[in-house]
Amino acid sequence: MNAKNSQSFVDDFMNYVKSKDPRQPEFHQAVHEVVESLADYLLDNPRYLHARILERLVEPERIIQFRVPWIDDRGKIQINRGFRVEMNSAIGPYKGGLRFHPTVNQSILKFLAFEQVLKNSLTSLPMGGGKGGSDFDPKNKSDNEVMRFCQSFMTELSRHIGAYTDVPAGDIGVGGREIGFLFGQYKRIRNEFTGVLTGKGVEWGGSLIRPEATGYGAVYFAKEMMSTRGESFAGKIVCISGSGNVAQYACEKVIELGGKVVTLSDSSGAIYDPDGIDTEKLAYVMELKNIHRGRIREYADKYGVQYMKGQRPWSIKCDVALPCATENEINKEEAEILTRNGCFVVAEGANMPSTEEAVRHFINTKILFGPGKAANAGGVAVSGLEMTQNSMRLAWSRKEVDDKLHSIMCNIHEMCVKYGKTTHDFTNYVKGANIGGFVKVANSMIAQGLV
Ligand code: NDP
Repeated sequence: MNAKNSQSFVDDFMNYVKSKDPRQPEFHQAVHEVVESLADYLLDNPRYLHARILERLVEPERIIQFRVPWIDDRGKIQINRGFRVEMNSAIGPYKGGLRFHPTVNQSILKFLAFEQVLKNSLTSLPMGGGKGGSDFDPKNKSDNEVMRFCQSFMTELSRHIGAYTDVPAGDIGVGGREIGFLFGQYKRIRNEFTGVLTGKGVEWGGSLIRPEATGYGAVYFAKEMMSTRGESFAGKIVCISGSGNVAQYACEKVIELGGKVVTLSDSSGAIYDPDGIDTEKLAYVMELKNIHRGRIREYADKYGVQYMKGQRPWSIKCDVALPCATENEINKEEAEILTRNGCFVVAEGANMPSTEEAVRHFINTKILFGPGKAANAGGVAVSGLEMTQNSMRLAWSRKEVDDKLHSIMCNIHEMCVKYGKTTHDFTNYVKGANIGGFVKVANSMIAQGLV
């Protein structure tokens, strides 16, 4: 298919998407990336165009928006906004995390839900795509405030979800504590103990390895990419951003595989530890972040290393970059700095952490670039395994789950190579992930008729 046809196809489709929802830049960005890499494939396979699969994919099956009133510790009434975007259920119940962060709005959740549809398909497990959350900020809130908020949020959400309908999980600002409060309220309202949420505690229906899954999975994916060039993590310098769930376990797995992690960050700044973050220092980070809910600056104070206030870690020289914080945290300039400094692997632990220009730069320079929907699919994959264990009323061992996670990440890598190999020595993983995720969903939508 010639380049002109495919470019005008992309432009026409993006005009259509933008005309419907002009003020949703993150959603447009996510759709554009997908449509750009699908264009040639769709023009070569017109049955998807006749069935208007793309137009149907960008239209959520349902969006629920609701008021979340709660009372803070001073007795003052607070009002937040709750959402659930039920994007696509062609291959299974809606599945995707809940995000609690002040920036949450429909554009962000639609981008995340759209990505989730293709990501879940890539895992090969039977899960549709969704995403939800609230503009509530759990930072600087007491445990009681978080509990009251979660209970109010779930009071409404409980009408719309269920083990066979929609199964939310965690995301930014929603970890084990929040999932516990949400699950407790669901159980109380519905009077049923079901696998309605994933990321549950292991004592009450959760899966071993679920907390580790996204970070471990991203590193497994990076390892697979590196092995195509005869490389491994041993001795490599690794920059990680973020210091939350994904960053912590990515760090743990890199250390285990012999790499040296030299940075972590949060929304206030980054630390640079040239000696490397070892298991002892990582244990300190986990306690700091998960128990005391402190700031990464405190790491620099404790270990006497450099703190880069208000900065991201990409100016630090490294072989491998694992962005694990949030969307659009690597721009074009930062991408150029990374590759100029010798970075040859970027695996996205976060969702859409690289801007479109940054992605283009990584692909043009032919480094190993693993997009989030492939590289961070380990989290939802183990959520899928948690659902399976809940249905079977069984709990698998740590090794069983980790082995399954590892093999799912290898399969996703293979799928990306199948659809994304452009020359004998280069795989465009963005293209591979987008086509690989699309085909199963699209075929299922056609088989199920116009619904
Ligand atoms: P956490 O809330 O545990 O950690 C988020 C980290 O990112 C924190 O260090 C946080 O810093 C930082 N961060 C958040 N927002 C911003 C911002 N606007 N600017 C700079 N730093 C920011 O979330 P997770 O680790 O669970 O999620 C991280 C990323 O991984 C997200 O993109 C998420 O969508 C993605 N993801 C998560 C999965 C999971 O299983 N948890 C699965 C797949 C993808 P601070 O504390 O200062 O806010």
